[in-house]
Amino acid sequence: VTADYRARDAAHHIHAFSDMKSLNAEGSRVIVRAEGSWIWDSEGNRILDGMSGLWCVNIGHGRKEIADAVQRQMSELSFYNTFFKTTHPPAIALAEKLAAITPPQFNRVFFVGSGSEANDTVIRMVRHYWASLGKPDKTVLIARKNAYHGSTMGGGSLGGMTSIHSQGGLPIPGIHHIAQPYWFGEGGEMSQDEFGIFAARELEKAIDAIGEDKIAAFVAEPIQGAGGVIIPPATYWPEVKRILDQRDILLVADEVITGFGRTGNWFGSETFGIEPDLMSIAKGISSGYLPIGGVMVSDKVGNVLEASGEFHHGFTYSAHPVTAAAALENLRILEDEKLVERVRDDIGPYLQSRWQSLADHPLVGEARMTGLMGAIELVPDKRSRGQKFADTGRVGTLARDISLRNNLVMRAVRDSLIIAPPLTLSHDEADQLITSARKTLDDTQAELKRLG
Ligand code: PLP
Repeated sequence: VTADYRARDAAHHIHAFSDMKSLNAEGSRVIVRAEGSWIWDSEGNRILDGMSGLWCVNIGHGRKEIADAVQRQMSELSFYNTFFKTTHPPAIALAEKLAAITPPQFNRVFFVGSGSEANDTVIRMVRHYWASLGKPDKTVLIARKNAYHGSTMGGGSLGGMTSIHSQGGLPIPGIHHIAQPYWFGEGGEMSQDEFGIFAARELEKAIDAIGEDKIAAFVAEPIQGAGGVIIPPATYWPEVKRILDQRDILLVADEVITGFGRTGNWFGSETFGIEPDLMSIAKGISSGYLPIGGVMVSDKVGNVLEASGEFHHGFTYSAHPVTAAAALENLRILEDEKLVERVRDDIGPYLQSRWQSLADHPLVGEARMTGLMGAIELVPDKRSRGQKFADTGRVGTLARDISLRNNLVMRAVRDSLIIAPPLTLSHDEADQLITSARKTLDDTQAELKRLG
């Protein structure tokens, strides 16, 4: 069965973010079923999903309540748009619910189909906002190196990944990238607190160099996810706030990963005391059961948008009734089962302390985690933070592949391993995750010795 799947996949399917030549030579793993924190492949292996799919399956896999809600909505109204002075109950209820669970400045949402579309919408919306206020020159968006904000022309441009920029002629004009607050990799001799201030002041320097009158917004994830779970030093966000409080520049939080409980609050902005003007949301809004995202719009921006006539922007699947119904049921589960509180008070602290215990391993330079998103930095010599493996990424990829053989999905970013398990993870599953992760570190170390 697996060989047949692999042959057909190799013949016809181009995978996202994959080197198809080497993948097809090796053969894909075929995932056939999932439940709770576990996925099963076509060979019958049961694998702990340490990445919640792609940072999205916050309520765990296979919840029948979502399937039922989707089926009910499909039978009632499977599609209608919101372009023709029309709306429908699932869009209304979801917009109202989002206004209730997001920070108080947010009372409106613009629906989209994905995180990339959310960030494309942000680019157009902030420029439209300033133009509506008679400041059409405020067009530049400042974002951060190594950030991931999506794969569309806008999202890929806002993101700071050079691998993405190098294909397809990105970034589009008017996007500027500053350093990320990555103390472990880039902090040099500075303390974490000193480096947090230093990294935040990169923003101040960029504003002064470009000119405040040209800048529309600063866009950042509260914790950079795909960039490597870059948890900023405690001084970073307060310093960014101090800088932006003195300037007429919008703050946009990309909460595509950090939203919906991942960091132990409903939104990462709350965990770090950030007060954004816009928030991009996706992934955990529906736990990935169906594709939906949005831009949360503060009253400051929303009142200007409302006063300024038509915003010529939208998607066929903006406010899709069935994806909205899936999101609503997902939010009900998050709320009724107190999953956000569980990350803050129970499974979060439990997994964090167990994860941090991996720092005693000879291969590990740092183990960090906030809420349920964490990373371990693999290093050749743990006494020297600055020293890196030659051929960046080789050891991370090796460890990731070994982890999968140990039935745990971890993702490699450069030479670090990252996890973001479902918010429903049990204590027993957390213990199994740590046991597999430690075995992966031991196996990787043995393999490195063997390779010399
Ligand atoms: N923003 C962040 C922070 C993300 O992590 C991602 C996806 O991983 C996106 C945006 C893009 O979302 P999507 O893949 O739904 O387009």
